[in-house]
Amino acid sequence: MAEGRHEETLDPWYDRVAEAMGVRTQDWNDVSYPGGLWGAACDHSGRTANPVPVAVDKDTCVNCNWMMAGCRFEAKKSLMFNYLPAALAHGATIRPLHEVQRVERTDDGGYRVHYDVIDEDDYRIRTDSGSIDAKIVVLAAGAGATPVILKRSEPDLGTMPNAVGRYFSGNGERLNTAVVDEDRVRDVLGLERDDERAYEAFQVGKGPCVANWDRLDAALPEYSRYSLEQLYFPPALGTILAQVPGAPAPSWFGADKKEMLRRWKSWLIVFTMSEDDNEGVFGAPPPTGNATRLSQQMLGRGTLSYRPTMNTLKGWAQSDAEVKEILEKDGIASVAPWTNDLVGAYTVHPLASCRIGDDPHTSALDDRHELRGHPGIFVTDGSAVPGALTVNPAMTIAALAERSVPGIVDAARERGVDVTYGAPAPDGATSGRGGVLKLVGQRT
Ligand SMILES: Cc1cc2nc3c(=O)[nH]c(=O)nc-3n(C[C@H](O)[C@H](O)[C@H](O)COP(=O)(O)OP(=O)(O)OC[C@H]3O[C@@H](n4cnc5c(N)ncnc54)[C@H](O)[C@@H]3O)c2cc1C
Ligand code: SF4
Repeated sequence: MAEGRHEETLDPWYDRVAEAMGVRTQDWNDVSYPGGLWGAACDHSGRTANPVPVAVDKDTCVNCNWMMAGCRFEAKKSLMFNYLPAALAHGATIRPLHEVQRVERTDDGGYRVHYDVIDEDDYRIRTDSGSIDAKIVVLAAGAGATPVILKRSEPDLGTMPNAVGRYFSGNGERLNTAVVDEDRVRDVLGLERDDERAYEAFQVGKGPCVANWDRLDAALPEYSRYSLEQLYFPPALGTILAQVPGAPAPSWFGADKKEMLRRWKSWLIVFTMSEDDNEGVFGAPPPTGNATRLSQQMLGRGTLSYRPTMNTLKGWAQSDAEVKEILEKDGIASVAPWTNDLVGAYTVHPLASCRIGDDPHTSALDDRHELRGHPGIFVTDGSAVPGALTVNPAMTIAALAERSVPGIVDAARERGVDVTYGAPAPDGATSGRGGVLKLVGQRT
């Protein structure tokens, strides 16, 4: 956190996000079978386990694990049900399929944002283009996209801070897949799903449900701190990258892998979020878009290079060994990490590619999230987070974004925009706002 604010905690901002999105901590009755299995295995090996907080309505959630495709039961409290309708109610306009390409400065000291409109089926096709003039620009395109937009804007805006597109963190992520011995789950852990099955429930749940946080101790050495979380990954990349436990590497293909796939219902995935070395660096931006698109929507080739350092690799080796120790104790399961041969390092939590901080050389943003040397441009997505968090990042990204808003309001007012800070939560609740107003008062 930036200098002069070391005494400041993010707690009131977390509270505001929790109120806005309906985040709540699950109890043991809410967790899925895989979560329960992970909790029992941690307990069996003398460790603790905790149900994780989620923004899911437990009464309507059916534990179908379809979140990646969108929740058709409206149980997942995505932004479509809270922040976005609230923004619309306050006069915002949402322009779907508008892809920002670059930002330039206007003669009056403001900015012009250039966009392409992309085809709704094939994002490689551009159907239109245009621009919007603005006094303030808030970029929130994500840690993989924000530095690309800023780098592409450099010829128009002028030199970018050194840290734009550097210090990317993958949140130190690593995955292990265990194949569970159903009999040992019943005999050793005493778990039973019904009369016939001890477990066979890999597919049941709502993403992450239970985590071990024993290594999240500030007194432990750097790079040896991590959380171990039960997680569901739908069939696709996770099915391909999983390796056969005990087999000589590489073992993500072949006859033994086929046998492993046959037992897929007995899988359990454990997710490591650790400390990395912020070793990711972006290359020159592609001519348009955030990456060169290889398929209609999902697949693209970006310019990010990420070569894990010895520190990062050491942390991964330590967490792999711990997952193995927990799950292989008394023959409950056999475990292997995902291969890095196919896609190199991987992450679902990109961070820090345009981060806040004190040092102008290593941080692109000041403590108000304003881009150094470019007053009026703010960044409020995962790229602003300084480094690996060792936990799932969405709440921290949102809490930092909430924390940046009063400064953005100040900047808008300085430019003559009639706007005030202090809207209630999207559903009208006000206790989160009450918690942060004191801090806001201190800043202004
Ligand atoms: C499979 C999966 C599961 C996850 N599960 C969890 C979890 O359980 N808990 C958790 O804490 N986190 C989870 N995460 C991570 C979490 O979703 C991200 O950390 C978070 O959404 C990042 O927020 P952001 O605002 O930085 O970026 P995003 O949420 O990616 O938002 C960026 C937005 O900008 C848009 N955009 C991008 N480029 C442009 C452009 N050029 N012009 C206009 N718009 C653009 C994108 O379409 C997107 O809507 C998960 C991620 C994945 C992929
Ligand atoms: S598991 Fe996910 S997708 Fe399924 S109902 Fe629950 S929140 Fe929705």
